[in-house]
Amino acid sequence: MFRFLPDDDCLIDSHCHLDAAEFDGIRDEVVAEAVRLGIGQILVPAVNQATFAQTLAMRERYGCWLAFGLHPIYLAQHLDEHLADLERRLAEDRPVAVGEIGLDFYLPGLDAARQEALFVEQLKLARKYELPVLLHVRRSQDRLLKYLRQFPVVGGIAHAFNGSEQQAAAFMALGFKLGFGGAMTFRGSQRIRRLAATLPLSALVLETDAPDMRPEWAQAVPNRPANLARFAEILAELRGTSPETVRAATHHNTLQVLGLG
Ligand code: ZN
Repeated sequence: MFRFLPDDDCLIDSHCHLDAAEFDGIRDEVVAEAVRLGIGQILVPAVNQATFAQTLAMRERYGCWLAFGLHPIYLAQHLDEHLADLERRLAEDRPVAVGEIGLDFYLPGLDAARQEALFVEQLKLARKYELPVLLHVRRSQDRLLKYLRQFPVVGGIAHAFNGSEQQAAAFMALGFKLGFGGAMTFRGSQRIRRLAATLPLSALVLETDAPDMRPEWAQAVPNRPANLARFAEILAELRGTSPETVRAATHHNTLQVLGLG
C-alpha cells in the first residue's frame, strides 16, 4: 500500500479527482505510480454531497489533502440541505479548502442565478471557516471576480486557469494562485502556454485535474496524477528554468495558499 509522503520540495498535484469512478479497481496502482514519479501530495476536491464520504476515504487510505464543495456542473443534484452537510464537513473533517466551487457559463442548461446563489453561500462558508477556495471558472472570470470582491475569502486557487493577463492579475491581487496543467501540454494552446511562461512563478501551482484534462500525449486514456511530473518539466521548459526550480516554487506556493506553509 502506497501513501503520499510529502517532503520539503516534492511535487504537489493541487487538483486531482482521485475518488472518480475512472480509478475504481486501479486506484492503488495509480497512487503507487504517482509516488514513484515524485508526486508527494495531492489535493482531492469533492464535487457533490453524494460523494463526500468517498472523498474522505482518499485521506484515510492514501493520506491525501481534501476539499469539500458543491461543483456548479452538478447543479441538478444539489439540494438546499446539502449546504448544511457541507458545513458539517467543513467543521468536523478538517479539509484544507472549500471546493470545488465556482461558475460555469459554458455548459448549457446550468441556471446562472442558481449557480450564483450556491456559489455565494459557499463563499460565506469559506469566510466563516477561514478556508481558501478551489474555483472552477468557465466563461465566468469577471462575474466570479465580482463575487470574490463582494465576499472576500482568505485566498484560493483558480483551477485550470484560462483567463487573460488582467484577470490573472485580479485573482493574484485577491490572494489567489493560478492552476496550470493539461492545457499547457498542447503545442497549439499558445495563449495558455504564454501565460504559463510569463506570469510570476510565485502565482503558479501545478495540477492534473485527473481523470479529466488529458494531456496531449495521452488523449485516449484517463489522465493520471503521475502525469504531473511531466507537466512540471513542460512548465520549466516554457519558462526557461529548471524542473527543480518549478517543483520547489509550486510546492511552496501550494502550501502558502492553503495556509499550510
Ligand atoms: Zn475538478
